[in-house]
Order: sequence, then structure tokens, then C-alpha cells
Amino acid sequence: MKIFTTKKEVGDYLKQLQANGKTVGFVPTMGALHQGHLSLLAQAKKQTDVVVCSIFVNPTQFNDPEDLEKYPRPIEADILKLEQAGCDVLFNPPVSEMYNGPEEWHLDIGELEHLLEGKFRPGHYQGVTQVVNKLFSIVNPDVAFFGQKDYQQVMVINRMVELLNLPVKIVMCAIEREQDGLAMSSRNIHLSATDRQHALVLYRALQQAKANYVAGHSVEQIEQQASAVIDEEPDTQLEYFEIADGQTLQPATAQSRSLVALVAARVGHTRLIDNVVI
Ligand code: AMP
Repeated sequence: MKIFTTKKEVGDYLKQLQANGKTVGFVPTMGALHQGHLSLLAQAKKQTDVVVCSIFVNPTQFNDPEDLEKYPRPIEADILKLEQAGCDVLFNPPVSEMYNGPEEWHLDIGELEHLLEGKFRPGHYQGVTQVVNKLFSIVNPDVAFFGQKDYQQVMVINRMVELLNLPVKIVMCAIEREQDGLAMSSRNIHLSATDRQHALVLYRALQQAKANYVAGHSVEQIEQQASAVIDEEPDTQLEYFEIADGQTLQPATAQSRSLVALVAARVGHTRLIDNVVI
């Protein structure tokens, strides 16, 4: 695997490959890699000739300085995992390579900015679009792979691609879970053994919501039932549980063609998100 830390070097290397007709698949990450990230790489390997992964803990998408500081950064272990997964290129820039001091960025992504995650993490999606747009312009991928785990993020990236007319295809990949259902996440490392047990309530509530929808319960009833289940769990603070339109993420209506149940909660000191398509 080739490892680059500068925009110029990775850009020049990939340009050469593309000039020779190779397609580039891109998996942007913040590292602390787990099976979820590796499943995106596996998809990229299937669909494109050259697989590029970036590891960059992007400061502009964190609204909580403590979260940024304690974000895990096990770079040596990550490099080993990427090599084993057959990744071709790692781009691992320092912050100074991506940001030349403070800079202005605003992309009008409409309502998506203030719904769900946007409500609880103000500015988060501006930071995400800012860095993903930079990464796209450096890597110039044909296809980029994102996880359904961050459902709203995929909607936001799709919107950015549409607004800025970016020449990249976005592929959304399924959520990888532990055997007991917990969605894999780099933040799971912060969960104590008891937190880890409490955290299972998220997937349990999502599955119940899906079953209740199939059984004909109303959206309001389902949201109330799920919220009650999570509220009962010790050391767990619900931020939201919503059944939304799968295309717009606005509250579900009778016209919605697909539905997604989304949840965010703090378990102990760790904030977790998860979702299930209904
Ligand atoms: P992150 O490193 O958290 O920024 O995530 C990098 C990419 O991996 C994003 O597209 C995430 O949605 C995706 N991802 C994170 N967790 C999972 C998971 N459990 N299953 C599938 N994809 C995931």
C-alpha cells in the first residue's frame, strides 16, 4: 500500500493511474478502523480498479472539543488493517495540509442541515461537506463509498454532489453490526462493559419500531413506544428517535416512498447513532 501525507503527491499519483484508464474508488474515514470501514473498502475493491482510503480526523466537523480530543487515532493498527484488506493507497494528511488557517465555508444544503443530527450537532454538516469536498478535489474519485450508519451524512453528500455538479458516483453501503446487534463505531471503544450492554437498547428499539410498523401501528405510536424503551434504559439519554421519509428525512407522511427509523442517544459519556430502513 502506498501512503501519502500531501495533497500534491497523492493527487499526482492518482492522476497518473487515471490517465492509464484506471477507475478510482474512495473511502473517506476518520480512522480507528473496524469491520464497518473494511466493508466499504471491500465494496470499493469490487467496483473500482484502485482503492483509496483517507484517514483524517477533521476538526471542522466537531462541535465538541472534548470529542475531538479523545477521538481514537491508532494509526499503526489502521495501516495494518488496510494492508490486510488490500487497500492500494492511504491518504493520511496532517491538519495543516488540509487547512491553511481558519477559512470560510458554507454550502446551502437546506433543511437537511437542521434536522436530526443537525439539530444536536450544529455546524457538523458544514464541516463534513467542507472536508469531503476538499478530499474529492484531491483524490478525484470515480466512485465514493459511504456507510448507511451515517444515513443523514449520505443524504448531505448526495445533495452536495448535486449542487456542485461533482463528477463522482456515491454508493451507500449497509451497516455492519456486532453479533449482538450493536452498530460498529469507532466510538464504541469508549463504552464500559455496562455501557456496552445498555447500548444494545438502540438496535432493540429500532427493530421493535420496524415490527410495530409492519403490525400497523401509527408513526406517532411507534416513536412514543421506542422513546419509552430507551428512556427506561439506565445511563442512557435519548436525543431523538424519529421515523422519517427515506429520501428527504422530513417527518414520514403517507406519501413517503421509503421510511427510515433513526436514533441518537448518549450511553454513559458516549454519543451513539443508529438507524434501520423500514
Ligand atoms: P468515520 O470514520 O466514522 O467517519 O466513518 C467513515 C465511513 O465509514 C462513513 O461513511 C461511515 O458511515 C462508515 N461506517 C461507520 N460505521 C459503519 C458501520 N458500522 N457499517 C458500515 N459503515 C460504517
